[in-house]
Amino acid sequence: MPCVNPNYSKLQAGYLFPEIARRTAAFLKENPGAEIIRMGIGDVVLPLPQAVCEAMKKAVEEMGTPEGFRGYGPEQGYGFLREAIAAEFALRGAEIDPSEIFVSDGSKCDTGNFQELFGADAKIAVTDPVYPVYVDTNVMAGRTGEANGVAYEGLVYLPTTAENGFAPELPKERVDVVYLCSPNNPTGAVMTRAQLKTWVDWAAENDATILFDAAYEAFIRDPEIPHSIFEIEGARKVAVEFRSFSKHAGFTGVRCGYVVVPKESPFHAMWNRRHCTKFNGVSYPVQRGAEAVFSPEGRRQCMANIDYYMENARLVRETLSGLGVKAHGGENGPYVWMETPGREPSWNFFDRLLREANVVGTPGAGFGACGEGYFRLSAFALRENVERALERVKRVL
Ligand SMILES: *Cc1c(COP(=O)(O)O)cnc(C)c1O
Repeated sequence: MPCVNPNYSKLQAGYLFPEIARRTAAFLKENPGAEIIRMGIGDVVLPLPQAVCEAMKKAVEEMGTPEGFRGYGPEQGYGFLREAIAAEFALRGAEIDPSEIFVSDGSKCDTGNFQELFGADAKIAVTDPVYPVYVDTNVMAGRTGEANGVAYEGLVYLPTTAENGFAPELPKERVDVVYLCSPNNPTGAVMTRAQLKTWVDWAAENDATILFDAAYEAFIRDPEIPHSIFEIEGARKVAVEFRSFSKHAGFTGVRCGYVVVPKESPFHAMWNRRHCTKFNGVSYPVQRGAEAVFSPEGRRQCMANIDYYMENARLVRETLSGLGVKAHGGENGPYVWMETPGREPSWNFFDRLLREANVVGTPGAGFGACGEGYFRLSAFALRENVERALERVKRVL
């Protein structure tokens, strides 16, 4: 037997999405020809913005010429992209220097990797329900004990449910790191300026670090809601922010994201060291494509796609509400977080929706114990599929 990392055996069977895929495949095997509508995984469906395609094509052509060829680029990303990103923050009053931006191949890796910078006994807090990457990567690193049921020993869980308006309370015990995600996956909830300020002040007083996941900031509609934690005074010392082009610009298959680690953060130099040691940069054509997201056409085209998804979210939310279902989220983010009928166990509801409506969603329990009794429907789907799915869902509710 090779000497393996024992922490992997603590991981709970199957990451959520493989289990959904397994149940869906089993159903299709028994019911060949059933026409499934997928509103489960949060993956975009609309084609890339034309401005992005044009920029990538041009960059590929450049690479094929003696003058335009480039080998390894800077690990942290090209200056043109880091400057375009910094300018975007400035528009919202957050002063970020390009040198504080680290371009990567996406936020799953970044949010998963950042924990390497914390000590082995750092106390970690997550909201419940939560994006599973934050939890599983800390389990792999050995920062938790065994799982009892759905919760890992040693992790601090901060419930976010309808009862507290999906706003996590400050931890009652000593915590070194907290992961916050706004707009939230899976609940669709957003954090207000006042709520974020409370967290920043708490972190400053307690020498804690906030890992802020803003993968869905481009979906915010309410002008009062901050897009970045760096819009909050004091955040530069205590927070790190993760952003991605995946949902913003349809880059789930292109791969590009970035981390903002301000100079005042004790993690700035460490992240730079880590990034340069373990990462060799995002490809030049992809960075040119990402830069085009901030061009006037790129902005318009991305916003048109986001508007389309948000109209889906509105349809889902309003149809469900009209049926007497309590549907949360969907106003500043692409997920609707519905309460299952009579708080039916979420995997039950998943199976019933699959069998009776041939619609696939995501059971809330897969995101944590407090997700039980909830179900996530994603707005990342074609309109006709959303409409057909809603017709079918009506029959099941
Ligand atoms: C989709 C998503 C991301 C982005 O992942 P990428 O690796 O950049 O595609 C990050 N955080 C959350 C919560 C997400 O849902």
